[in-house]
Amino acid sequence: MTELTHFYQKFQPTHYDIYLDINRETKMISGKTTITGEAKVKNISIHQSGLTIKSVQAGGQDVSFTTEDQNDALNIDLTKIGEVTLTIKYTAPLTDSMMGIYPSYYEVGGVKKQIIGTQFETNFARQAFPCIDEPEAKAKFDIAIKFDEKIGETVLSNMPEIKTENGVHYFDTTVRMSTYLIAFAFGELQSKITTTKSGVKVGVFATKAHKANELDFALDIAKRAIEFYEDFYQTPYPLPHSWQLALPDFSAGAMENWGLVTYREAYLTLDPDNTSLDTKQLVATVITHELAHQWFGDLVTMKWWDDLWLNESFANMMEYVSVDAIEPDWHIWEMFQTSDVPAALQRDATDGVQSVHVDVEDPAEIDALFDSAIVYAKGARMLVMMRALVGDDALRKGLKNYFAAHQYNNAKGADLWNAIGEAAGMDVATIMNTWLEQPGYPVVKASIIDGELTLSQEQFFIGDGVDKERQWQIPLNSNYDAAPKIMADKTVVVGTYDKLRKENGKPFRVNVGNNSHFIVKYDDELLKDILDNVDSLDAISQLQILQDLRLLAEGKQISYAEIVPLLPKFAASHSNVVIATLYRVANDLKKFVTPNSDEAKSLEKLFDKLSSDQVTRLGWQPKSSESNDDQLTRPYVLNASLYAKNPISIESAHAIYADNEQQDLSAISADIRLFVLRNEVKNYGTEEVFDNLLDEYRKSSDASYKEDICAALTATPDAKLIKKLVGFFEDSDTIKPQDLRAWYRGLLANDAGQQAAWDWIRNDWQWLDDTVGGDMEFTTYITVTSMIFHTPERLAEFKAFFEPKLNTPGMTREISMDIKVVETRVKLIEAEKDSVNSAVSELAD
Ligand SMILES: [Zn+2]
Repeated sequence: MTELTHFYQKFQPTHYDIYLDINRETKMISGKTTITGEAKVKNISIHQSGLTIKSVQAGGQDVSFTTEDQNDALNIDLTKIGEVTLTIKYTAPLTDSMMGIYPSYYEVGGVKKQIIGTQFETNFARQAFPCIDEPEAKAKFDIAIKFDEKIGETVLSNMPEIKTENGVHYFDTTVRMSTYLIAFAFGELQSKITTTKSGVKVGVFATKAHKANELDFALDIAKRAIEFYEDFYQTPYPLPHSWQLALPDFSAGAMENWGLVTYREAYLTLDPDNTSLDTKQLVATVITHELAHQWFGDLVTMKWWDDLWLNESFANMMEYVSVDAIEPDWHIWEMFQTSDVPAALQRDATDGVQSVHVDVEDPAEIDALFDSAIVYAKGARMLVMMRALVGDDALRKGLKNYFAAHQYNNAKGADLWNAIGEAAGMDVATIMNTWLEQPGYPVVKASIIDGELTLSQEQFFIGDGVDKERQWQIPLNSNYDAAPKIMADKTVVVGTYDKLRKENGKPFRVNVGNNSHFIVKYDDELLKDILDNVDSLDAISQLQILQDLRLLAEGKQISYAEIVPLLPKFAASHSNVVIATLYRVANDLKKFVTPNSDEAKSLEKLFDKLSSDQVTRLGWQPKSSESNDDQLTRPYVLNASLYAKNPISIESAHAIYADNEQQDLSAISADIRLFVLRNEVKNYGTEEVFDNLLDEYRKSSDASYKEDICAALTATPDAKLIKKLVGFFEDSDTIKPQDLRAWYRGLLANDAGQQAAWDWIRNDWQWLDDTVGGDMEFTTYITVTSMIFHTPERLAEFKAFFEPKLNTPGMTREISMDIKVVETRVKLIEAEKDSVNSAVSELAD
């Protein structure tokens, strides 16, 4: 990798005047950018990408310049160092790439429309205007926008508009900020606006394709989240407004542009009358994540992308902290335990995974840093572990000092550890750096050796791994006081087991609360003691026991066959997190069976055994008085019951479909709609049903309904319909490129559709690269494929296709990781399938 010099070292801007004239008709942008700053050398470089530079002036005089596409550079020769004002005139194309300045397409009442929006993280501001496009290069910005404006259009930016003159919209000067957080948008928008207790204007904006009440949920969450953060951080929201804007075409989930947060529509708008609780919870955490960034990331920004975790890990923890405060009845940390925690534990166990903190220079590699399981999930878990260690008082005091010291400026990871460590009176940095800088995590083995309760740590791997003798400083959180608070050594003797067991009167456990990033392998005696008393444990502890056993089985430290007999113990639980984890294990057993075999039939029987009482207890239709747990449990057990081909469930779902078919399928309760639609397509699906659903998909503005239709249609067993479906993959009027991955993944996971999906991606890889390449979501097509493949044949094909792409910038780690993931799974199945399947049939029959 070439060592690039940061452009900021040569030229340090303090102020930008940005003028943009954007024409949607001609798809052209013409612009003039005036930058005032300090030249540290005479030969400076400014970022640009795809701009046609017309002229460059320094201090009002034309100067010579060259452009260099390789480095995204505009090189300018100045006559002297010191303060200088540059004026750059240029043109640029308006492209459909979902990066830089780009159009989003949508339809209202059959009329095609577009909204222009922006996406500048990580380094796409340079596609919109010349700038020092590095997070450290903070400056103030005056933005002025002209466009082919029609009556009734709205234009938004980070700051409020202050005047319009000759069709040019002028926005107030920003505070000192990074280029990747600049944003603006215009088009026909509807909005709802409110004000926080402290006077911050909060608004939600969306296209008029949405019903007005679809904006209400987000407005309420956003307002209360900002109020929460102002209190928690003890630092006022720094801008006059906080706009949330849903864009019809959006690559990531959402983007924390300062004062103008942009979202994928699915993560902002929702039907308040028919949306499942888990979707509401997800949307709430996306909003609170982005709003956490308004301080953490926007007010104080990482100095360079290697500290991306400072932004993302922290926002990922705070999204839960804030939702837990504003919606305590949701018990939102349970969602953390069933989504982020297993994602982090699974991915972080593969050798070759990145650490949370990663050195990076090449711009193509920066986007590859956004590994959601590591920088988001593991990083958040690491911070949750720190929070549990220092407590909220010290955390808040540390944060307040951190914001005060670095606001409108930049920071490094060490600055955060120091601020919190000082507030807590603890060497936080030394503990946390073992988690931040090292990839992977430990398995703590708890054993009775010669009567002594002994703990040891070693790195846990799923698949082959090179043991580099890594050690972590582990917050143990044991339920026995004799165990150390922090386990820093490789081995610890806690004491004489019989004596400890008597004194404590309960089975020995570590990682109580499941807040530390490690798993536990108890020896047979200790595990039996825990399992004998499992009913007295809380839901998170039960989840943890199943989760750790599942991971140990993935890592071949125990056999899946040993877990199978434990499943019925948990099947009657009324806790949705226990049920979620139980079915995570049960669903993992599917990889061991061949479709339509005797083994598959036994597994179906087991699923029926596990789920039938719960289906009877909960019923198909949600009840208004039921608990959140029941509401969240129902989808798991219905899914299991349909997998088991339970005739009553199949018939019940069919009857619900028939009842709604003539009226409105979207009106089926969102809690069960996916299962009703998928059951219909799988078991009764005519071409007419298929076409009708596809038509609904095209017409609807309700993202969760659309997701249900996608999951239903991709499950079709019909070869003719599968062919038809693949035909729509590249039709952006039907399936937007941002949504395509879910369709691909759905079809790939369908035994009848896998070949068609796999053929499509291999044949049309270039089209995919042209359409979503250069975008952070691109490599996740490889990831989702690797999560499904499990046969030697597919492994060979996967390698044959992806190995030649190993040297593509930004894809190297993902491809090598994913080959290993499939290889490991194929080996595991080969080694275990007989014993797993006989354990299943023993229990099922
Ligand atoms: Zn984020």
